Amino acid sequence: MVPFLAIPGPGTPYALLPPKSSAQPGPATDRSGHGGRGCEVKLFSGSRRPVALGPYPAERLKRLDDSPYITAELPVPAPSTFDGPLQAVESAYAPFPDEPIAPRSPALTADPGARAALLKSAAFFYDAAAVGCCATANGHALVVLSENPGTCATGTLAAHWTLGAEQRLLNLRAREIATVLATYLRKLGYASNLITDRHQLADLGVRSGVLLQRANRLENPFIGTSFGIVAITAELELAVDRPLDPNAGSALAQAGWHWLLGIGGCRSLLERWRSRQRPDHTSRYPMERLRRVTQPTTVIHADEVPRVAMRANFFTRAGHGDLGPKARGQMPNFVDKEPLGASTRAQQAALLPLQEGTPSHPRDAITERAWRSDRSDAVKSLGYWLGADLVGMCEVPSYAWYSHDDAGEPIRTRHRYAIVLLLDQGFDTMEGGSGDDWISGSQSMRAYLRGMEIAVLLAAHLRKLGYPAKAHSNAYGEVLQLPLLLQAGLGELSRIGEVVLNPFVGPRFKSAVVTTDMPLAVDQPIDFGLQDVCRKCRKCARECPCNAISWDDPVMFNGYEMWKPDVERCTRYRLTNARGAACGRCMKTCPFNHEGLPIQRLALRAAIRLPALRGPIARLDDRLRRGRRNPVKKWWADLEMIDGRADTPPAGVNARDLSLDKTKPTSPIAYYNAADNPPADAESAVAVDRSAALKAVQLLETPAEAVARRARGEPPPAHYRAPDP
Ligand code: SF4
Ligand code: SF4
Repeated sequence: MVPFLAIPGPGTPYALLPPKSSAQPGPATDRSGHGGRGCEVKLFSGSRRPVALGPYPAERLKRLDDSPYITAELPVPAPSTFDGPLQAVESAYAPFPDEPIAPRSPALTADPGARAALLKSAAFFYDAAAVGCCATANGHALVVLSENPGTCATGTLAAHWTLGAEQRLLNLRAREIATVLATYLRKLGYASNLITDRHQLADLGVRSGVLLQRANRLENPFIGTSFGIVAITAELELAVDRPLDPNAGSALAQAGWHWLLGIGGCRSLLERWRSRQRPDHTSRYPMERLRRVTQPTTVIHADEVPRVAMRANFFTRAGHGDLGPKARGQMPNFVDKEPLGASTRAQQAALLPLQEGTPSHPRDAITERAWRSDRSDAVKSLGYWLGADLVGMCEVPSYAWYSHDDAGEPIRTRHRYAIVLLLDQGFDTMEGGSGDDWISGSQSMRAYLRGMEIAVLLAAHLRKLGYPAKAHSNAYGEVLQLPLLLQAGLGELSRIGEVVLNPFVGPRFKSAVVTTDMPLAVDQPIDFGLQDVCRKCRKCARECPCNAISWDDPVMFNGYEMWKPDVERCTRYRLTNARGAACGRCMKTCPFNHEGLPIQRLALRAAIRLPALRGPIARLDDRLRRGRRNPVKKWWADLEMIDGRADTPPAGVNARDLSLDKTKPTSPIAYYNAADNPPADAESAVAVDRSAALKAVQLLETPAEAVARRARGEPPPAHYRAPDP
């Protein structure tokens, strides 16, 4: 038991926690990694760097013709207090890939080099740090290395939680990537399995040119000795990589300025150095410099916002047939339509039962006695260590809980706090696509899977510490994530409508949530001037392929001020898009979806501070033709699953750039108020009444009218009331 007087104050080191020796594997001993928590510094654009090359300039390393003899072994994961959650997820992934091998895809390239580039790019898309190919006795192998996105500094509460767990986490992340790739190969018609044996992996890692032996240790020249590794067998022929030359000097000596400064857009050593200056509980983006406000920048009349049932979600409505037979017919096919996105489905299904559980008893004494702010910092550090791109916290407003679940059963509002995890969908792939082509669905699925995995691990850990906690993901969640993103200070509501926009990542993200009763210090909403920017910029509305985004002013909708989109149109388009999988074109074309170069950051800062510049900066974005596709970044194969086989999409590909001349469409937005929702327990189809929804615009208040009505003491409009089950 820790004596009461030994409880450290907020922010002070947890001196009583066991110190780490340098020999002890743990997150604090190695702060290397892809940028850690430094404000991201990207001095040079990567727009001409193909995704298949990976984040580090490995193409500049000297190579050998033959594999050198190795004696070193890969490290064995040490036991840690975080083992329970990690092992649970590992076991959920254990049976994969069990995907049946589909008939061979006739559309896949026969060129071994192009095939290797496709699979490597897919692995980098999933955040692999290095990937290499080599021949094996039975075919070829693809070796995947992962690196740790974050660290937990020695002496902190987060270090107490994660001590010794790093290797197991790294291996889990590599395994996640490898299971998706192996499943993808099977969907393309090729046998593929995972290799996790340490001795085999050491050999394959060296032969595929992702590892080399130095001083009897295996390392990657850029990442060092802290990495996770998994290999997958591939029945198809791949162009192989040559082994690295261990006598060629350091990575800095070989890759020089390219690595030091990130020339050509690769991940830079400078970035790693900078990351060491930043506390572990802060993200790589300087969120702490933004203005915090007590209320979100859009009006929310919390006492008037109706709780809604899951049945009202438009994808759920489509599944019940409310949007007609065509949309209903596409529902089962929505995720499975494109083979890479479909390769995450089984993993998501396996994680689903882990979202909930019973908390341990008694509570972890050190955590219980920690200062609230330290506990919150530790949870954030943990979120970043697990791979979230941004983490925020808030109290859960009651209206953020769904009222009824899928079966029409009431949902109780149970936990007080929400930990909101934001997952960047990745700039590179977004830059290569049109936003509604064949990679679009995979971009969502990648972030959904990663978010779900992190939320499951975080919730399991909080329960292990003795606190009730539940993960909420895209696959199943009992909270609406949008109000939580706002309250947790991760962004402002944008013109896109039901999309929160972060100043550094733009709208290019997905989220996952953990609700808990662990007492936490919450964040405040942010104000970076987005409401004014979105008033002056209508790019997303112009570029939406189905005119689902409003060109007009915000309205009050069910108690929220928002640019309410035409959700029916958007849902229909995403479901029935014949020349792509899903859609995220509004995210792709928004000026806030940028690479993070100094000039772009400067423009962002100018737009935040100087309202007069917001309009010109938005127009400049068009002048620079930002939002077009970059063919260098187009790495994926346009494939559609047709009768169980990955084939060339018969309808083709949405190959859009910008519609600069498009003017406001004449077709108005349809508003489905809470009163128009189907009953929470409606099993059969409740057809949408579009003509009524078009007329519903007459019922809407402006924000000023709603404020005035409340000042007169009048009740909310009748259309705010959802139907009873
Ligand atoms: Fe329009 Fe696509 Fe965005 Fe929906 S996801 S609003 S269809 S651009
Ligand atoms: Fe706002 Fe323009 Fe982005 Fe749309 S494209 S969300 S209007 S900044």
